[in-house]
Amino acid sequence: MIDWQSNLRQAIRNPVHLLELLELSNLEYSTNNSFNLLVPMGYVKRMRKGDPNDPLLRQILPLPKENQKSVQFNNDPVGDLAAEKIPGLLQKYHGRVLLLLTTACAIHCRYCFRQHSKFSNSQYQSILNNIKTDSSITEVILSGGDPLILPDNYLAKLINSIANISHVKRLRIHTRLPIVLPERVNSELLTCLTNSRFQPIIIVHVNHANEIDDKVKQALQSLIAAGITVLNQSVLLYGINDNITALTNLSETLFNCRVLPYYLHLLDRVQGASHFEVEESKAIQLLEQMRIQLPGYLVPKVVREVAGMPYKKPL
Ligand SMILES: *Cc1c(COP(=O)(O)O)cnc(C)c1O
Ligand code: SF4
Repeated sequence: MIDWQSNLRQAIRNPVHLLELLELSNLEYSTNNSFNLLVPMGYVKRMRKGDPNDPLLRQILPLPKENQKSVQFNNDPVGDLAAEKIPGLLQKYHGRVLLLLTTACAIHCRYCFRQHSKFSNSQYQSILNNIKTDSSITEVILSGGDPLILPDNYLAKLINSIANISHVKRLRIHTRLPIVLPERVNSELLTCLTNSRFQPIIIVHVNHANEIDDKVKQALQSLIAAGITVLNQSVLLYGINDNITALTNLSETLFNCRVLPYYLHLLDRVQGASHFEVEESKAIQLLEQMRIQLPGYLVPKVVREVAGMPYKKPL
């Protein structure tokens, strides 16, 4: 099996190539140079050939609609700039800080609320010093970009340094890599995640059950077998998962992998993503239907992030 780095280097960046593989050469796309197409081959293999509405394809193909300007959609929809304590360190909520150590990802999701963020790849020493001086911080969340794109030795050093700060009780990682590049979950990563005093929590990001194939299932199960708590967050996306069948399938497929749903986010209003928005009244209906059809533990919390609020606002 080829390693994850080679896999990532071979990811598709050319829309013409992607559409040829999917037998959709006549489909319209746009070129977006600041947030280009990026998708690993393994993820493309989960798409249906000849289907322009495939729920995985829709998440990654840049469409001409991205160039529509919408007044409520901007480059900082959830107030990240105002929440920055120092470069690379965000705090919005009590006790929890978010570390942004890279802007790189293994896939470019067209609805990503951080697609325009250009924070500097700061050295983590100043971030750690800041956490050390603030004993109210009990949870550190690695985010980005995708923190698991960082090499194992870097992650190991980082996690050790965080573990040396005694008031930090929990380590959490927000990542899409186990889903889009399951090869990333190798034994080196598992060692590095389980070698500290933390009981890590990983929040993956799946929006549609078709994203989970056998390799992804294995990757999730090896994280869980290593003692890591794995939860999922999704974004409610127009034409992708805004129907009750897609949402119940997603929860049930996650459960088959021993993963529980955590959040279903309403879209953050980021420039270029307005065509993904689902109306709030529709979201309320879908939540009601999920409550009727699913056991309570398979119903995600449906939330909207409101800049300045001290928690993610439930619907
Ligand atoms: C979402 C988020 C968190 C985590 O919030 P939880 O409700 O604890 O999952 C922490 N910090 C920031 C900046 C966030 O956006
Ligand atoms: S993987 Fe996450 S951070 Fe990266 S583009 Fe997708 S949604 Fe954004």
